Amino acid sequence: MEIAILQAISKEARMDQISKTNAPVLENFWMPFTANRQFKAAPRLLAAAEGMYYTDVDGNRVLDGTAGLWCCNAGHGRRKIAQAVERQLATLDYAPTFQMGHPIAFDFAAKLAANAPGGADAKLDRVFFTGSGSESVDTALKIAIAYQRAIGQGTRTRIIGREKGYHGVGFGGISVGGLVNNRRVFPQIPADHMRHTLDIGRNAFSKGLPTHGVELADDLERLVQLHGAETIAAVIVEPMSGSAGVVLPPKGYLERLRATADKYGILLIFDEVITGFGRLGTPFAVDYFGVVPDLVTTAKGLTNGAVPMGAVFASRKVHDGLMVGPDNAIELFHGYTYSGHPVACAAGLATLEIYEEEGLLTRASDLAEYWQDALHSLKGLAHVVDIRNLGLVGAIELAPRDGAAGKRAYDVFVDCFNKGLLIRVTGDIIALSPPLIIEKEQIDTLVSTLGEALKRAA
Ligand code: PLP
Repeated sequence: MEIAILQAISKEARMDQISKTNAPVLENFWMPFTANRQFKAAPRLLAAAEGMYYTDVDGNRVLDGTAGLWCCNAGHGRRKIAQAVERQLATLDYAPTFQMGHPIAFDFAAKLAANAPGGADAKLDRVFFTGSGSESVDTALKIAIAYQRAIGQGTRTRIIGREKGYHGVGFGGISVGGLVNNRRVFPQIPADHMRHTLDIGRNAFSKGLPTHGVELADDLERLVQLHGAETIAAVIVEPMSGSAGVVLPPKGYLERLRATADKYGILLIFDEVITGFGRLGTPFAVDYFGVVPDLVTTAKGLTNGAVPMGAVFASRKVHDGLMVGPDNAIELFHGYTYSGHPVACAAGLATLEIYEEEGLLTRASDLAEYWQDALHSLKGLAHVVDIRNLGLVGAIELAPRDGAAGKRAYDVFVDCFNKGLLIRVTGDIIALSPPLIIEKEQIDTLVSTLGEALKRAA
């Protein structure tokens, strides 16, 4: 049954509301990660979304090649989520979870735990709710440091990240992240960085996981020798780095990191803000790689991007290590006003139902080969120096135009948008991550639109 809010505002009425004649004033919204002055001179404004498509304010359809920002895994405009949100807002709009509770937060945690990363054996089934990926990362780092202290390892306060890593924009996240522009202006917490694993020289155009580079995991050993294991609480990596332009781990790399972390009592954190909820063809990257970390950060696909929310999955070992001291003492001085927000939990529960009903958490694996072949058909186009893929993720790396890093890919991005395709660019890398509901014909459209744009850019 269609609910009132959706009946009251028909699609036509919504499109009327957002037509060009009602163009918004642009100067007040300070846009994130955007060249504000450039954007506002030639804005791209999306007004509606359904399934695989956005509609812009001029009424043009735009194929979503990026699931929004890697988050709308079940596609757009999902009625089940809208209905759950409306129902929850009308029932319990907000209630705190500090020294209080409400059933839906426990229900959502239990549902997530039942399908936690790595399955029942991994025991990553203790769930801490946050409001975003950045908050999940900062939460995981704080849990790691607090855990080490609780087990008598209080000198372990340093975190090891990786070059080209992206872990959001909290002070913890930028400290362990390895994207220079995110770091250079701001102070950071004690951290150091392993080398990244992108090696176009040896691995160019490899399909799936790169064959070369497992030895790069030994960089953790080097940093242990440099700083001393007694100073290191945890190592955090994206099993597959998305924001840096789809940097894949070489075969065996994550296994080796796990072994080194174990050897020195260092916790391993997988940042699955992008890879969580089906992106690689398994529910989590943990399941894809069969490597079990101590903590897993998530967000984005947790609620299909519909309501901001994140979650950290903690192992029972870590969780129980902190459940010490008097029963009436708060075990972890950490939490957010919106941790376990009832409306976000409702959206999350509805999202999980959709994933389950439509088999979306494994759909990327059914499409992976088709996706791989389609993307690699772009090999040979001028300036394409690498193509990478895994699950329903892809990257096309372009040679920078002389003296203008990022300009070639940016031109392709604008061109694609004008031709009805949303892609994402980071530097001269085009990153693709369509909703997991994508059909083969839409993959064909995506790749041919991109291919034509690449030809024009050449
Ligand atoms: N971690 C990873 C791996 C991400 O890709 C992102 C965002 O893209 C984040 C953390 C930060 O998430 P948010 O933007 O929700 O704070």
